[in-house]
Formats: sequence, structure tokens, C-alpha cells
Amino acid sequence: MSVYARETIMAAGVWTGEQEQMAHAEAEDGSGPALKVLASKGIHITVPKDRIPAQEHVGVITQTEKSVLFIIPMDDYWSIGTTDTSWREPVDVPAPTAADIRYVLDHANDVLETDLSPEDVIGTWAGLRPLLQPVASDEESSSKVSREHTVMRMAPD
Ligand SMILES: Cc1cc2nc3c(=O)[nH]c(=O)nc-3n(C[C@H](O)[C@H](O)[C@H](O)COP(=O)(O)OP(=O)(O)OC[C@H]3O[C@@H](n4cnc5c(N)ncnc54)[C@H](O)[C@@H]3O)c2cc1C
Repeated sequence: MSVYARETIMAAGVWTGEQEQMAHAEAEDGSGPALKVLASKGIHITVPKDRIPAQEHVGVITQTEKSVLFIIPMDDYWSIGTTDTSWREPVDVPAPTAADIRYVLDHANDVLETDLSPEDVIGTWAGLRPLLQPVASDEESSSKVSREHTVMRMAPD
């Protein structure tokens, strides 16, 4: 089946580079790929509700040196995150590391009376933020990369 459209919008997040290659797309001035996207990983952990005594509907949002820390009630659990680190592995499979989990636990423990440990963690998940790649990138700097958005028109092949 063929589909025709006057305009086609590609909003592919961390898959942007892959889609640009598939579309043979480049910047209008021919200078290379239209967008360079850096993947920044953010993880969350879950711990059982009874590990953090708190009133109903109470949570925590506070700033860390790299990101924001959320401690959010979710049914019978607390969801706690997040991190902000560069991800240079395949974008389909972001995964939390032991260091990520330790980072989240340490920052949660800074603001909690309860001392959470890795044994309290019953679930983890990870996502990738699509960030515009800086001109000079370094391995651990994704938290400093611009959070601005951009819209670019690609040159036709
Ligand atoms: C832990 C974490 C916390 C965040 N917190 C916030 C926040 O508090 N506030 C905020 O504003 N943002 C937040 N973000 C960022 C926000 O999630 C992203 O900026 C936003 O999702 C980007 O949207 P997008 O549409 O560009 O990409 P995505 O949401 O990644 O969507 C891209 C889509 O393209 C699809 N796709 C890729 N390739 C193909 C293909 N070939 N064919 C068809 N479909 C395809 C993918 O399946 C996906 O659905 C957070 C991200 C993370 C990971």
C-alpha cells in the first residue's frame, strides 16, 4: 500500500539517526545528518510501599547534582528515580546497572529516614532521553547537554 502526504513528520527520539539513514536524509545545507541525537539513560527502581512510612498521597521531588529525584507512590510500591548518564549501547535495550541502582538508593537515603538497600529493590526499568548532541561530547556529560528541542527540515534525497 502506498501512502501520500504533503508533509511527513519524523519524531523518532533516540532512533533519529537510524531513521535519517533509512530516509537518506541530511541537513538542507548538505553538511551531514540533520540531527545528532545523544541517548541519555534514566532509570527508576521500585520498592515495597511498607519500606517507606508516609502519609497517603505524599511523595518527594528534589534536585540532585545530575538530575531530579522523585519518590512517588504507585499502588503498592514506591517508584524512585532517576539518573542521567550517556548511553552508547544499542538504543533498543537500555538497562539499569548496579551503579545506577546504588546512585538512586544513595540519593533516596539522603532524604529518607529509612535506609533502603539493594535487597529492598523489587523492580527496575530504564528509558532513554533523546538529547541534541553537543559539538564536543564527552562520555559522562549527558546531564549538561541542552534540553532544548529543535525542528529541522530535511533535504530531499
Ligand atoms: C527517565 C526519564 C524521565 C523523563 N522525564 C521527563 C520529564 O519529566 N519531562 C519531560 O518533558 N521529558 C522527560 N523525559 C524525556 C521524554 O520522555 C522525551 O523527551 C520524549 O519522550 C521524546 O519524545 P519523542 O517523540 O522525540 O521520542 P520517543 O518518545 O522516544 O518516541 C519515538 C517513537 O518513535 C518510534 N519509532 C522509532 N523507530 C520507528 C520506526 N522505524 N517505525 C515506527 N516507529 C518508530 C518509537 O517506537 C517511539 O515510540 C524523560 C525521559 C526519561 C527516559
